[in-house]
Amino acid sequence: MNILIINSGSSSIKYQLLEMPSAQVICTGMIERIGSTKSISTFKSKDYRIENISKITNHKEGIERITALLLDSEKGVLYSTEEVDAIGHRVVHGGSEFTETTLIDNEVKNKIKLFSPLAPLHNPANLVGIEMAEKIFNSAKQIAVFDTAFHGTVPVKAKKYAIPNEFYNEKGIQGYGFHGTSHKYVSEIATEYLEKQNAKLISIHLGNGCSITAIKDGKSIDHSMGFAPSNGLVMGTRSGDIDHAIIFYMVNTLGYSLDEVNELLNKKSGMLGLTGFNDLRDIESEASKGNTSCILALEMNAYRIKKYIGAYIAALNGLDAIIFTAGIGENSSLMRQLVCKDMDYFNIHLDDAKNDLRSSTIREVNSLDSKVKILVIPTNEELEIAKQVFNLLT
Ligand code: AMP
Repeated sequence: MNILIINSGSSSIKYQLLEMPSAQVICTGMIERIGSTKSISTFKSKDYRIENISKITNHKEGIERITALLLDSEKGVLYSTEEVDAIGHRVVHGGSEFTETTLIDNEVKNKIKLFSPLAPLHNPANLVGIEMAEKIFNSAKQIAVFDTAFHGTVPVKAKKYAIPNEFYNEKGIQGYGFHGTSHKYVSEIATEYLEKQNAKLISIHLGNGCSITAIKDGKSIDHSMGFAPSNGLVMGTRSGDIDHAIIFYMVNTLGYSLDEVNELLNKKSGMLGLTGFNDLRDIESEASKGNTSCILALEMNAYRIKKYIGAYIAALNGLDAIIFTAGIGENSSLMRQLVCKDMDYFNIHLDDAKNDLRSSTIREVNSLDSKVKILVIPTNEELEIAKQVFNLLT
């Protein structure tokens, strides 16, 4: 069965065509910087690697570009769109409605639309991907895999906010949790690696968006992102945890509009707001040259993660392993080192030499005397989505 995965972010689309159940990747690629005159489209198959810089105005054009790459008569991998049996769409916000992978129909699309105000950077882009795919790949089944689904097991005491009950009972205001596909994928690999079904795990997803999840018996029991993917850790452009009184102060005293504050907290804050750089590679490089804002931002970022680790050890009443994953978690030995420093009270000890090694597979970077394992596990949301689509259809 050929399954095409479409993973739309706010300004990017990752895609992958896989044959299931063998999980053989037929091609993979990405459209980055959508909305810019210099959008980058990449395509990688067994025989070809293409990189192209051109103007891609919106997600609709992005999907058209992906289709053209797949069907390219010389370098493509498909003769016809009918060769695709199913399309797996990553959908960021499924509210409390969707806790399972779901076949898409009009009702499902309407609900995804309904949740758009809760994930304004993502859900509208996910919907465009679905609607374009329905038109172009009209013989394929369209399936939604929700980022929120894995967190359906978080108990009420952890996901409910301490505001009047009607907001939880009638208006759906609660913590939903995100990056579920990634946390599920890496935690399953860790469980297998540890050979312990009831392992107590803390999964730290550090990419452009960052989140941390406490996992017990394979189930999410608490998570740092909340009602929208904005709470919790310091991210590339998002502030993470912030006292809500600051929002009122910005509006009522400093004269910002609510839209401006929303834009500021989601797109101009986090590491970008602290340093002027969004990409951690630039921040690390500046820090190594003595840039004090970058040094402080790295320390703030790691400190926030440490605090969540402490809280989740309490929630789990123990800990078998910490997992680092995604762009920063997998690649930044410095961030792992800052997070794991001075954690001996918890029996967390990093091995600096192992931490500096690079690998594209799972690796253990703790010292031999560390009771808690520190694992670096490359995430693969596309494979996880493909597995879920395949399971649903078979
Ligand atoms: P993701 O959202 O998982 O694709 O992660 C993207 C982020 O990973 C980028 O913005 C970078 O900040 C970070 N990243 C990627 N490679 C490295 C690296 N070698 N060192 C540090 N950070 C990295």
